[in-house]
Amino acid sequence: MKITDVLIPSPLYELHDPFIDRAGVRLLVKRDDLIHPVISGNKWRKLKYNILEALNRGASAIISFGGAYSNHLYALATFGKKAGIKTIGLIRGEELNPESSTTLQHCFEEGMELGFLSRTEYRLKDEGTYFKKRMADDPNLFYVPEGGTNAFALTGVGEIVDECQQAGFHPDYYVTAAGTGGTTAGLWVKKQNVIAVAVLKNAGFLENDIKKWNSSTEASGQLDLQKDYHFGGYGKYTAELLQFIADFENRYNIPLEHVYTGKMFYGLFDLIKRGYFAKGTVLMAVHTGGLQGKLKP
Ligand SMILES: *Cc1c(COP(=O)(O)O)cnc(C)c1O
Repeated sequence: MKITDVLIPSPLYELHDPFIDRAGVRLLVKRDDLIHPVISGNKWRKLKYNILEALNRGASAIISFGGAYSNHLYALATFGKKAGIKTIGLIRGEELNPESSTTLQHCFEEGMELGFLSRTEYRLKDEGTYFKKRMADDPNLFYVPEGGTNAFALTGVGEIVDECQQAGFHPDYYVTAAGTGGTTAGLWVKKQNVIAVAVLKNAGFLENDIKKWNSSTEASGQLDLQKDYHFGGYGKYTAELLQFIADFENRYNIPLEHVYTGKMFYGLFDLIKRGYFAKGTVLMAVHTGGLQGKLKP
């Protein structure tokens, strides 16, 4: 597979602002949102080695799970099409159809086969009867979990660190939004210190989900899971968050959305302003993309 129209290494920007100077820190942004207009950010990182592996194995299709607004399925549909491998998306909600959201419409138009599962069936994921039957009918399917998180994904995410190091940066902390924690884990097992801003409520479970990815006895970096910037839960937002995003976009000319990157930068700015970091700290915020999910005005 030759991938030609992607911006790799993704650009690095430094944000300048008096509040950052006052805190005595440096804030860099790894613009993974610019990697590809459709296969953006961490979904490109997480899918790259999954797609390569599926092609190597001669898989008949890639099968995965997601909700009606899934950035993961959105990216997978396009990436699969470009790579010339069929994709199947199993969607949470038997009442839905390919017209239910712009995300699903996109997946359908890119040729993804969509299957609509009841919430009970969906919750069982690869243990569910629908999934098991599909796999029994075609053992050549390549399974990628919800959100794209698996060992191949972690390898892809690790290349963020390689790119930063090649550009001469060895930040004290990487900062990322965390949904399933796969992106966090990919940075962390690469022996980096990571601040993960959880975008969902009661995210304590993520700590274990992330730590289970360290299979070696060698220590990984520090893991600092920030649980207080979820704004009510996954996909939830407040007027304050939307205002923050609008101000951020005006000031730095970098677009954000309300599900992941808005919460991540809100949390990070709050920590900087509260004096959370020692003077001289270098922070590398990963802009994980996701702009397809931006609220339309
Ligand atoms: C999916 C997604 C995340 C969450 O990544 P995880 O690896 O699941 O933690 C973060 N940001 C954006 C923009 C995403 O689309």
